[in-house]
Amino acid sequence: MPFMRLALFIYIVFITVFSARALSAVVDVSKNYSSPIGASIVYFQEQDDLLTANDALTVFSSQYDASEFRVQQSNNEVLSFGINANPVWLSITFNNPSSKIIKRDIEIANSWIDSADIYFFQENQLTAQSQVGDVFNYNQRGTSKRFFDASYNFSPGYTQVLIRFETTDPLVIPIYILSEEQANENSVINAYSYGVLYGAIISLLLYNFILFVSLKRSQYLFYSVYLFCFIAMNIAYTGHGFKWFWPEAITWQMWSNPVLMFCFNLSGLVFAHYFLNLKYQSPKIYKLNVYICSLFLLFFIGACTFSDHLYALGIAFVFMLVYPLLMVLLGVVASMNKSVAAKYFLVGSILAAIGGGITGLAVLGIIPFNVMTFRAIEIGMLIDVILLALALAELFRDTNNKKIVAENMALTDPLTGIGNRRSVYESINEMWFDLMESKSAISVLLLDIDKFKLINDKYGHSFGDEVIIKVADIVKQNARSLDIVGRWGGEEFIIILPNILGLDTKIVAQRICKSIENTLFEMGNEVEKVTVSCGVAILDDEKSIDELINSADIQLYNAKTRGRNCVCSTTDIKAPATAY
Ligand code: GH3
Ligand code: MG
Ligand code: MG
Repeated sequence: MPFMRLALFIYIVFITVFSARALSAVVDVSKNYSSPIGASIVYFQEQDDLLTANDALTVFSSQYDASEFRVQQSNNEVLSFGINANPVWLSITFNNPSSKIIKRDIEIANSWIDSADIYFFQENQLTAQSQVGDVFNYNQRGTSKRFFDASYNFSPGYTQVLIRFETTDPLVIPIYILSEEQANENSVINAYSYGVLYGAIISLLLYNFILFVSLKRSQYLFYSVYLFCFIAMNIAYTGHGFKWFWPEAITWQMWSNPVLMFCFNLSGLVFAHYFLNLKYQSPKIYKLNVYICSLFLLFFIGACTFSDHLYALGIAFVFMLVYPLLMVLLGVVASMNKSVAAKYFLVGSILAAIGGGITGLAVLGIIPFNVMTFRAIEIGMLIDVILLALALAELFRDTNNKKIVAENMALTDPLTGIGNRRSVYESINEMWFDLMESKSAISVLLLDIDKFKLINDKYGHSFGDEVIIKVADIVKQNARSLDIVGRWGGEEFIIILPNILGLDTKIVAQRICKSIENTLFEMGNEVEKVTVSCGVAILDDEKSIDELINSADIQLYNAKTRGRNCVCSTTDIKAPATAY
């Protein structure tokens, strides 16, 4: 019997002293922990009645009926209870094996929990307590951190920490125990990584907004709005917003997450509409999308109007999960019509969807929550926005190419393929100032087919066209690459020759005359020959290109009156001896 009594005694001592600790591993504050200490947590959820810290302490000591509260050992590094969970009590036992006091920071790496009450017990005596959460003004916090935390000087021996969490938001509890050095290191890593993320997205945002202002294309505006909503949402759920922008706006802090999540998803779909030109490319998908967005918007506005935070949160999360599916669907539909921009969009959307999906599922507690899963949306979005920027550049290049083609068409004579009168003016206007500055020689050669009316009358208009095409070819062949060649009128051509002396221009004109005169134009069995007359003007006292062309026209008229098939030049007037 003494043996039985001894066994019972040992059992009771074991139960009363070690019951809470037996469930979980003790956290040694002299060691460094790099991951969340979830595996050292025991927890239970409050049922109907609000418990005090002492009540909870007795529950953890198993003096209550354990089955009533179902005290459990956490199997994960991070505890997760989803949206609108019952309040959670958890207990962590710390041990300081040294003989000195060790200061450690208990960090709850989450910024949206409504309230967390933290109690420190030593030998069942409350030694410290604090209350954190985003229902309290940020400026009242002891620290400048965006996550919730409590510092504590751990005396040698055991310290039991109880924390009560209450929130309607997703209840995710990643708890870290950090030394001052680790906390500083983490804050540096966070500062750099968010600096890169926000820097990249804000520069894209500004760049695209500037593009919108200058190009007046709505795609750029909606892309900027989409980027803005992403940054705003990210700033809100990471706690940066509460810290930097609205430290005292407690109501907005509560609503910022569902409202900005909703805005981000909506802006993404609106951007997709404009970017993929859905209204015209896929009207059915466009309508479906508009219905879905309107439905969500209606319910969401309803939830906001009735101040139903939980309902709004639920809608925002459902929309968050539907959104990537819709984006991928739009991408698939759009990339069917072979648009390169749509393919970029599709790949970007898939990556953002994967990232967003991982983060959403981690926050809802469906997959393990850790730094990688929590920040997956940021990586996905960063790749997505870069791909979208490339896609917008692709669209820009596409429209620019079309514009260039249209402009070229407006400047080209369709019959001969050489420039028209407008193109000649544009080209010479571009060069005129430089030529004047450098006092370069400029001459103009005007050329007109002789008695062309007769050719048309004799062989018909299409034969006349053939002649015009061939003459244009000969004129072009005789010009240098820097000369400006154009069709000046029906059967009239112009060459503007920079950096060439008057006499040389006359030689060019005579060469063209000869070349045309020697060309045979065949029409069935008949062979026809044509001649041209040329007028040449050299820049002298003329002050404008029009005056110079006018002088060449006078010389062309002279050539016609002299009997055609000849060249007259302004240099002839000054030196009549060389004229012929
Ligand atoms: P001149 O030697 O004095 O220049 O006599 P011309 O008959 O060549 O001059 P005129 O200006 O009287 O006639 C030009 C003709 O060129 C009249 C017009 O029908 C013809 N023409 C103008 N453009 C085209 C065209 O694109 N194709 C054809 N086939 N004929 C054209
Ligand atoms: Mg003519
Ligand atoms: Mg004519």
